[in-house]
Amino acid sequence: MTLQINTAKRWKLEDLAQQSYSTRKVDAWVYYCILCDEVLFISRRFVEAKGVQAAFDGICPDCGFGLENIMRCEHVQLPHTRAIYVNPKYQAPLLVEFPSRTFDAIRIQNARLPEEGKILTTGIAKLDKLVHLTTGQLIVFQGYPFSKSLAESLCVRAQLDHPIGLSSDVIFIDGGNCFDAYAVSEYAIEHRIDPKLALSRIHVSRAFTYFQLASLLIEKLPSALMRYNSTFAIASNITELFEDPEIKDKQEAYRIFQRMLRSLTAVTEITGSLVIATSSRQDINPFDTMLTQTAHATIRAEDHVTFTQFTLVHHKTLSPRKVSQRENRTDQFLEDYMER
Ligand SMILES: [Zn+2]
Repeated sequence: MTLQINTAKRWKLEDLAQQSYSTRKVDAWVYYCILCDEVLFISRRFVEAKGVQAAFDGICPDCGFGLENIMRCEHVQLPHTRAIYVNPKYQAPLLVEFPSRTFDAIRIQNARLPEEGKILTTGIAKLDKLVHLTTGQLIVFQGYPFSKSLAESLCVRAQLDHPIGLSSDVIFIDGGNCFDAYAVSEYAIEHRIDPKLALSRIHVSRAFTYFQLASLLIEKLPSALMRYNSTFAIASNITELFEDPEIKDKQEAYRIFQRMLRSLTAVTEITGSLVIATSSRQDINPFDTMLTQTAHATIRAEDHVTFTQFTLVHHKTLSPRKVSQRENRTDQFLEDYMER
């Protein structure tokens, strides 16, 4: 069987979805990059993952990451005209003469086996008990101003060794122009680290448009984690730039936001890193709703006069819970209680 390489246009997963209008559908295997959704190859027959990866020289033609960990293969139903496709950037002839497989193996994931997660503590005992900030996860903190000061505190604590931190540098991607070096210095002194040293281990990038933010989080974050041998990143004010009333094409902004979140969760799982995203809003718009649904866990912080209340609004395995914490004290709490 010879494949027809008949198109110079490259497809993303969403193109496939848009083209799947009702017509005669056939079984097909789609091979794609989970970081950037680039479709690499579609075939009526199952092809060994290694064969597809070799055809692209082991590299995603769009985002440039090694395919070994980020290629996924799924069995789908497609219109028969769409059931054969090869990304025009392919490097070598694909080996397609493999026997067809049964459809039991619906997903073949090449993601790295999850290692034992490491935990970053917040220093707030009840919050640390409420939810573990474990590597391999995207965790969202909603609420202002608490989430802001927490971000700087975590930037310092992440540098400390186990059992407090992750012994890691920090990648801080700032979507709200809010990184506070002064607060970092104060937390560093509190934890007996030289403030200059603490600041030198936090690598800050600022975004001023939602395109810049998405590009930093999708394209630059994975390589920054590798370059600094880091397992911790903060994405501050992750929804704010997407909610700019000046944005004309709101659907495009929403689409890019979704893609950015998918990429973030994939990066945490593949690299075994912890990414904390902060957002000042609380579930009142489509962006925060999407954020909560996509993240591994979402914690809402509400500042009251004398205490801060934390609510675990969403967790992939735990049920919703609340705890309260007196302001500025890490050793005293109001009673904690269960929601519902
Ligand atoms: Zn890719």
